Amino acid sequence: MQPVAELSCDVLVIGGGPAGSTCARLLAAAGRDVLVLDARQVGGRKLCGGLLNRRAQLLLEDQGLSLPPAACVEPAQPLLEYHDLDNRLRACYTPGYRNIDRGAFDAWLLELARQAGARVISAARVQSVEQPVAADEAYLAQSTAGSVQARWVVDASGASACGRRQLGLPMLRRLDCLQGALRLDPPLANCWAVYQTARTPFFGWLIPKAGGVCYAGAGLPPGQLMRQRQQRRTRFQTPWPEQWDGLGWLLDYLSARGYRWEPADVKPHGAPLVWLARLGDVQCGRGRLLLAGEAAGLASPFSGEGVSFALASGAAAAQCVLAGQGAAELGAELAGERRRLWLALAQAYVGARPRLRPWGLALLPRLTGRELSRLGWDGQGAPGYNQDGGAA
Ligand SMILES: Cc1cc2nc3c(=O)[nH]c(=O)nc-3n(C[C@H](O)[C@H](O)[C@H](O)COP(=O)(O)OP(=O)(O)OC[C@H]3O[C@@H](n4cnc5c(N)ncnc54)[C@H](O)[C@@H]3O)c2cc1C
Repeated sequence: MQPVAELSCDVLVIGGGPAGSTCARLLAAAGRDVLVLDARQVGGRKLCGGLLNRRAQLLLEDQGLSLPPAACVEPAQPLLEYHDLDNRLRACYTPGYRNIDRGAFDAWLLELARQAGARVISAARVQSVEQPVAADEAYLAQSTAGSVQARWVVDASGASACGRRQLGLPMLRRLDCLQGALRLDPPLANCWAVYQTARTPFFGWLIPKAGGVCYAGAGLPPGQLMRQRQQRRTRFQTPWPEQWDGLGWLLDYLSARGYRWEPADVKPHGAPLVWLARLGDVQCGRGRLLLAGEAAGLASPFSGEGVSFALASGAAAAQCVLAGQGAAELGAELAGERRRLWLALAQAYVGARPRLRPWGLALLPRLTGRELSRLGWDGQGAPGYNQDGGAA
C-alpha cells in the first residue's frame, strides 16, 4: 500500500518554465488534473538573453498564442553581429529574433496554464520523486509544499533536472553563464555574438534592450570563471568594477569599439545552461516519468537557445500523456529535436575552433538561407584591438 499524500493529481509538472507551462496548459485544456510546482516566485528574475528565435515564434503561432505587449521589448527585431576576435572578422545578418522580457514571457505562459485549469503552486521545490514499485502505482514526490501523489510526472525543472537525477540518468554538462545589464553610450543597435577562444569555447553576447540598456553575458565552461578572475587586469586596459571580472574581456572589447558603458546592475548574475556534449545525452525519462526542455538535455550547444526546444518538448510530453504513452514514445516524438541538436553540435564544434570559424561563417547563408553582410574589422574606434583581449 502506498502512503497517503497531502496533494494528489493526475499529472505533476515539476517546473513552470516554458516546457512545464506548455505541457500543463495543453493537459489542463484537455481536462486532465494537473499540478505545477515551481521553485521560483511567479514573476521572479529569470536570467536569459530574451531572444525568441523564429522557430519559437512559429511554435507559439501554431499553438494559437500571440505575445502580449508586456512581454515585448524594443528593439523588437535586432540584427545579429558576429565578432570573431581570433580571426578579426565581423559580419552581420538578420536572424529573425523577437526581443522579449523573459520574466514577463514566463509569467504569461504560466498564467495561461492556470487559466486552462492547472493548479500552480510557486515557491514550491520538489525534493524527491519515488519510483512506484508496481506498474500501476502512482509516483510519490516530496516537495516543500507537501507530498504529492501523481499518476504521471513531467520533469520540466530546467538545468537542475531534479527528476532526471532521481532516475539515476547521467547528468548533463553545463556552462556557467554570467549576465548583467549595462548602460551604453551610444546605445547598442544590434545584438553581438563575440568569439574569443582564450576566454571561452562558447561565446559572449550583448543584447540591446529598451532605454539604452543592454545585457552583457557569456557562457563559461566549469572552472573557467575562476581562471578569468585570476587574470583580472593583468592584460586589460579598462577599469571595471571587481564584481564584473568574469565579463571584463567583453567590457574591454566594448571600450575598444568606442562605447562608453556603466553597469546598470551592481554585478552580473549567474545561471547554469545545459551544454550538450553528445546526442546520446538527450534522455526522455522512464515509464510515466517524462523529461521535457532542458531537463531532457534540449538546448542548443551552439547558440544556447532553449525556449523553442522547451515549447516543442512540453507539447510533445503533453501529447504522450494524453495518448497514454510513456518515455519511449516521447523519444520517438522528439526525433526532429534531435536532428536540430545534431546540427547545433556540429556548429558548436566549428564555433569553438578559430581555424574553422571563417568556413562556418561562409556556410551560414547556405544553412540559414539568410544574407550575410561582411563588416570591416577596423574603424568604429577599434583600430588596434589586441587579440589578448585588451585595447592596444
Ligand atoms: C544566461 C542565459 C541566457 C539564455 N538566453 C536565451 C535566449 O536568449 N533565448 C533562448 O531561447 N534561450 C535562452 N536561454 C536558454 C533558456 O533560458 C532555457 O533553455 C529555457 O528556459 C529552458 O526552458 P525549461 O522550461 O526547460 O526550463 P526553465 O525555463 O529553466 O524552467 C525550469 C523551472 O523549473 C523550476 N525548478 C527547478 N528545479 C525545481 C524543483 N526541484 N522543484 C520545482 N521547480 C523547480 C525553476 O524554478 C524554473 O522555473 C538562456 C539561458 C541562460 C542561462
